Amino acid sequence: MTLLAEFHDIACNPAAYGKKLKKAGNRKIVGYFCSYAPEELIYAAGAHPFRIFGTGENIQLADAHFQAYCCSLVRGSLEAALVGRFDFLDGVVFPHTCDSIQRLSDIWRMNVKGSFHLDVVLPVKLDTPSAKDYMTDVLTRCKSDLEVKLGTTISDENLKKALRTYNQIRKYIREIYEMKSADPDILRGADIYAIIKASMVMECDRLLTLLPLVLEELKKKNNIAEPPEGKRVILAGGICNHPDIYRIIEEAGGAVVWDDLCTGSRYFENLTEESKDPLTALALRYLTRPVCPAKHAGLFTRAEYIVKTARERNAQGVIFLFLKFCDPHSFDYPYIKEILDREGIPNIKLEVEDQLPSEGQLQTRFETFIHML
Ligand code: SF4
Ligand code: SF4
Repeated sequence: MTLLAEFHDIACNPAAYGKKLKKAGNRKIVGYFCSYAPEELIYAAGAHPFRIFGTGENIQLADAHFQAYCCSLVRGSLEAALVGRFDFLDGVVFPHTCDSIQRLSDIWRMNVKGSFHLDVVLPVKLDTPSAKDYMTDVLTRCKSDLEVKLGTTISDENLKKALRTYNQIRKYIREIYEMKSADPDILRGADIYAIIKASMVMECDRLLTLLPLVLEELKKKNNIAEPPEGKRVILAGGICNHPDIYRIIEEAGGAVVWDDLCTGSRYFENLTEESKDPLTALALRYLTRPVCPAKHAGLFTRAEYIVKTARERNAQGVIFLFLKFCDPHSFDYPYIKEILDREGIPNIKLEVEDQLPSEGQLQTRFETFIHML
């Protein structure tokens, strides 16, 4: 589908897209880490939210600041910033999530010049009676900090418009993913990956034009689809920066039918209630969205969510994809595995860095797992 080429190009090199936007000069560009950063506030302030990913390049400068046992997302992002690859950013927002992102925030503030720096100190426990008020207060503070940094005011009207815009984008992405889940052959795994990743950096107006066109194309295809063949699997973990993994899974006989990834469903799950006060509504979304391991919302919540998702999606197995040295995901893994085993859901864990292990090695591991399903 030619429509997808734009998503693939941008997902493959988000920084090049960011530079192009900067040159066009329509909006200030504000980088952010992690899906707990309130994109809607950045957008409502008239700026463009731009998700920062590791760049996969050799890490040299960042090694002076981080131990080698930090995940490649934080090391790779810092390296890219230090070599000037993110020079187009006017500011960067760091949500308070895992330890690595918190330390990255400090190091970035002290070493990366030329853009403003903003910490958003979100609550860690999301299931306490005070979490909603705490989260709303943090977002209110974030709103006024952004107003100061960007020299603007965020009107209620603009904020409501931002909520509607992001809801619409998330609805489109979810609908596309739902279609793939129902008929995995309709879209390659690498395509859904590219759509979601690119959506985190692309201009909203462009997304609101392209995503419905993709849906239209898929609906036409849907009528002529052959019965799907691949074994249905779910991906779970943090960031996946490797579209090749989807292809390798497919070549090994699998089909990704849903995920619990930061570069996947964690980006678009749960909409923001448009009838409520906008900041309260944003807070509620963060409190109710499928939780990541850097936050706490109950002892078994993540495992229960993955089991429920696997059942709902009729998945035969779960593939955990972790970045090496990602403590939050690694700490969560043993209990989630125990519960999946108890529920009879086959699972496998793969640790990756920005550079993938050899394709043959991955192929063998996936084939062995998928044949077992
Ligand atoms: S795992 Fe959690 S903290 Fe890490 S990037 Fe994803 S949402 Fe953010
Ligand atoms: S959650 Fe894991 S992968 Fe994400 S930034 Fe933190 S340590 Fe890295």
